[in-house]
Amino acid sequence: LQNTVQELRGSIRVFCRIRPPKQKADASGAFGVKAEGSRSVCLRKPPGERRHDFNFDRVFSQQAGQRELYEEVGPLLPGILEGIHLCIFAYGQTGAGKTYTLAGQRSSGDPGIQDLAIADLLRLAESFEVRLTALEIYNESIQDLLSDATSEAESRDERLEVRQSAGAISDVADLHPAQDGTGANSADANQTGSSKYSPFGSMRVPGLKSWSIQNLADVEDALQRVRNKRHVASTALNERSSRSHTVISLSVLRRSGAEVNGVPVGVLHIVDLAGSERTKISQAEGIQMKEANCINRSLSALADVLFALGDSTSSAHVPYRNSKLTYLLQDALGGPGCKTFLFAQVSPDALDANESYSTLTFASRVATS
Ligand code: ADP
Ligand code: MG
Repeated sequence: LQNTVQELRGSIRVFCRIRPPKQKADASGAFGVKAEGSRSVCLRKPPGERRHDFNFDRVFSQQAGQRELYEEVGPLLPGILEGIHLCIFAYGQTGAGKTYTLAGQRSSGDPGIQDLAIADLLRLAESFEVRLTALEIYNESIQDLLSDATSEAESRDERLEVRQSAGAISDVADLHPAQDGTGANSADANQTGSSKYSPFGSMRVPGLKSWSIQNLADVEDALQRVRNKRHVASTALNERSSRSHTVISLSVLRRSGAEVNGVPVGVLHIVDLAGSERTKISQAEGIQMKEANCINRSLSALADVLFALGDSTSSAHVPYRNSKLTYLLQDALGGPGCKTFLFAQVSPDALDANESYSTLTFASRVATS
């Protein structure tokens, strides 16, 4: 394991995944994104001829299957039982395959890297307690995706806040393992709403529910609830396009007898980011304008944090506080045991070339910073 972890140069790895084309290739087939070997992609924007080349830790072409991607993630999972905090981000325009990469395709029973990782983590962590939390950041406000709220209005009343706890976290106090006795994973039996336990280290989200996960059925129950609650709104690009960031966190906690130690040993965070397409502010109105502003600003804040963390030549200030997402994840992104994987998702289509260009530019800056 030590070797695996050390082999990762720095703490950030950036991958590019090219989805299958949505359109038939243009007549010449010359424009759009193409994989060039296993580490580079080339982009030609119509109508110009100049090509742009980008390098990554690894490039997955449109033929790559989910398990091929998972080969990058799997070897790190044992490290989570030894203290690693691993953040996996999917970045890209709406429709580029972020959710497909993370959550797979349910209709065809094709698991994503999230499902594969959770299954492996459960197997590895048999003697540990595993807890799942899920939240959404929409318009810079946090909602619990495991809450019992059933309507928009109820959810709005349940906005949560991020707080930074002072000093070290050694409070094991009010965390109780799920003790519903039946093994059934009912929400009430499993929530530890007032617990001092946090998957985000010294960052806390008071009131956030966590579910104790014993087996894959528990995971499925939790993720079903999450899917039902995800914020979706119409855009011209995709009528169920995602305008929010979703953060699913699996914490591994040490168990001694019936007691559970409230400080996670390690955590896996899986972050499905809001679509990165630049909404033309001039064309958006009202709520869409607010959404667009929040998304643009929080993705820039993430970029700034990842650039600062990747810049080993400077001990520069890392600007975590500029968005809820980076503020929440600061302990998971910046500490010594932290690893970050970014999957930059692009479409190969000529029509998407401008968005692909901005995704590739973002991701390759992170990769080479
Ligand atoms: P995003 O979450 O980035 O908006 P999705 O993951 O929802 O995009 O992908 C849009 C559509 O394209 C979905 O129907 C998805 O199943 C399909 N898709 C995306 N990537 C792939 C892929 N690599 N292979 C097969 N289908 C894909
Ligand atoms: Mg999506």
